[in-house]
Amino acid sequence: MVDRPVRVLPVIHTNQFFRRSKRGGRLSRQKIEAIARNLQLELWSRRSEFFPNRTFESPLEILEPSLAFGALGYQFKSGTSIGQHSQDNVTFEVAGLIDPSRNRVQISRQFPPAIRNFTAAHELGHAILHHNLGLHRDRALDGSAGSGTRDRTELEADIFATYFLMPSKQVRKSFTQIFQTEKFELNEQTAFALNAGDYDSIRARCGTVRDLSRILANAKQYNGANIVSLAELYRVSVEAMAIRLEELDLLRI
Ligand SMILES: [Zn+2]
Repeated sequence: MVDRPVRVLPVIHTNQFFRRSKRGGRLSRQKIEAIARNLQLELWSRRSEFFPNRTFESPLEILEPSLAFGALGYQFKSGTSIGQHSQDNVTFEVAGLIDPSRNRVQISRQFPPAIRNFTAAHELGHAILHHNLGLHRDRALDGSAGSGTRDRTELEADIFATYFLMPSKQVRKSFTQIFQTEKFELNEQTAFALNAGDYDSIRARCGTVRDLSRILANAKQYNGANIVSLAELYRVSVEAMAIRLEELDLLRI
């Protein structure tokens, strides 16, 4: 009997994309975006090596944290519950757990898909940016936390998750395809195309840009056609997509 060679799939090393300098220092948003972009490019250009049993129809399919973890050599598990944790006298249901020293990550199925996806992408940010994190647990994240009181490590992982799940070029392209403009402006014609009420009633509901960006992130119809909403297409919460549309300056009221 001849032993068949065991096929070893290639693995991306987490420090291939980022090595923190000895002095540490703050990572800029631009730097985090470039790191997320490099990871996406590597996953996409080497997809047949990393995922020989899968065919990809669209580059959006590579924006899947579990695939990235696979290529990083991580064991990715999703379980019905990964328990509770107490921190600063508050007990919470753990949504994500990562142990970079043992290359393992776990995501709880207790939460809706958009939260699971954002939490998993946040853990991916830790895997790439915070090699010395140790065993770490996160509560449920949907991408709407803002910078408020988050510490720098958590904020960096959130920023990474946003760029990994909603890359600028792809979101702009999807937005333009759906709304047929590079910058959406609410007027009689676009209000009609949204099929969400007449201009005056939509205008009355849109006191802030966020109100309109939520409507666009969640729109399931435009110009008489049924569409997959941007939030669904990118598997994120309406709020996370609404924030991203504003960051990319894609609308005005
Ligand atoms: Zn975290």
